[in-house]
Amino acid sequence: MSLLGVAAKRIVTADPARITRENPLGVVENAVVIYDERSISWIGPRGSAANVPIVDYGDRVITPGLVDAHTHAAWTGSRHDEYALRMAGADYRAIANAGGGILSSYRAIESSSEDAIAETLAARLGRMAELGVTTCEVKSGYGLEPDGERKQLRAIARVGKQANLPHVVATYLALHALPPSAKNNRDHYVLRAATSLVPEFASAKLASFVDAYVDENAFTVEEARIVCESARRHGLGVRLHVGQFTDVGGAQLCVDVGARSADHVEHIDAKGIALLATHGIKAVLLPLASFTMRQAPPPVAALRAAGVGLVVASDANPGTAPSESLPLAMALAVRLYEMTPAETILGATRLAAASLGLWGGGLSRPRGALAPGARADLVVWDLPHENAILQPWGTPKTCLVFRDGQPIAGANRG
Ligand SMILES: [Zn+2]
Repeated sequence: MSLLGVAAKRIVTADPARITRENPLGVVENAVVIYDERSISWIGPRGSAANVPIVDYGDRVITPGLVDAHTHAAWTGSRHDEYALRMAGADYRAIANAGGGILSSYRAIESSSEDAIAETLAARLGRMAELGVTTCEVKSGYGLEPDGERKQLRAIARVGKQANLPHVVATYLALHALPPSAKNNRDHYVLRAATSLVPEFASAKLASFVDAYVDENAFTVEEARIVCESARRHGLGVRLHVGQFTDVGGAQLCVDVGARSADHVEHIDAKGIALLATHGIKAVLLPLASFTMRQAPPPVAALRAAGVGLVVASDANPGTAPSESLPLAMALAVRLYEMTPAETILGATRLAAASLGLWGGGLSRPRGALAPGARADLVVWDLPHENAILQPWGTPKTCLVFRDGQPIAGANRG
């Protein structure tokens, strides 16, 4: 494929080489991005690349493709009935104990074929691409039993091969909830995940990461540690749900097992924040979940002051974050978490990619920012400024969404 170019009034690069205090997103004005299907070759002033066919998008804004670093997007079924119960005052944990919540999605996955899960996920990722997402992490965790987890991960892998959808990063969510068969046998359940399923999914290349839900009413630090240590031994990365309802020492666990991200952290103390900062572990913040659960925000000011990298993700799932819209999560990050627009955009592009191992560390062809050598994952927004992605809420207009230099969504795709 030969070189092509896209030009616009504002190019948000998110490139550390261009970022300054005054220009926190590394914006270049009146510029052109030159790329082919492998990578971006050059970014410079409009009109300066005379030999390359360039499409000029006028006064619009171009950003890196959005990266959703935490989703449960491979679900089937619907949990509208528990929402009505919760709004009537029922507590999430009471709903879970009565067989709703994750167990309701477990039954939906149990009765869905691999084909049906893949079809539902592909359609969902297509809708996410329309909202500017070019990379999406997708967790299993509704299969619960080995066959169900395998089925979910295979469906995710199949969809991940489709070049016309966002790039997919698969995570085996090994400890999410106990299936009914393991109610009285949790030690066996945890050990089987660590000694049998982690090695199987690693060697079949069905997952890049392993995750566990560490909280008072979920799994303990010690249970998660067994599974995470197995993940590391088998060459997989670790990302963890910690501190959603209670701080049970998740930050220390993240350090001990070399996690790339600590996700949720609505509850984390000063010592935990210092640990994340010292070890370069990203905090993946999930405003749609805390909003749905009527929770107070995580301690964003303290995380920022300590220098913890802040990522914003959708947590897309059918119960506690019932939305596919990363832009809606970004809007809530600004409105509810008091993150700045620039922090939020960085947290949904380059920092999110870094949390998935797709940016940094001398990686060739990284994702998450517009820079020479990076993949051409970018969005031409039908908007005059990057802050207009954050307001109006949830449905910003895309003109064209490119993944690896190919259009995958947007009104001007055809
Ligand atoms: Zn989650």
